[in-house]
Amino acid sequence: MLNQVQPGLHLNTGEIGYTTFKGRHTTTVRELIPLDLGGWVADTPGLRQLELMKMGREELITCFIEFRPFLEEFCKFRDCKHENEPGCNIKRAVEEGHISTRRYQSFLQMAHEFG
Ligand SMILES: [Zn+2]
Repeated sequence: MLNQVQPGLHLNTGEIGYTTFKGRHTTTVRELIPLDLGGWVADTPGLRQLELMKMGREELITCFIEFRPFLEEFCKFRDCKHENEPGCNIKRAVEEGHISTRRYQSFLQMAHEFG
């Protein structure tokens, strides 16, 4: 999942289960990985399972830094899920090529996992 938040990170994860977001981390070296969106990911040995905190869709979308400018203008609906709603700024940005389709799909996939 982190590989989706930050392309190029390429964490070496084994058996990531997209149904639960729990995966056994294969890294054995302690490292701190800086993220473009700010903050760090701690890769700690002894952590058998990488359990990712539950984020709301609102919080999740701000992790996709290039989406942010399009969130400043509100979508037509304030509770927009940025999926099928008409007048969605995010969808428009994807259609106009400001946001890559792949990143948008990552967002949707993750949003669905978070429920
Ligand atoms: Zn929207």
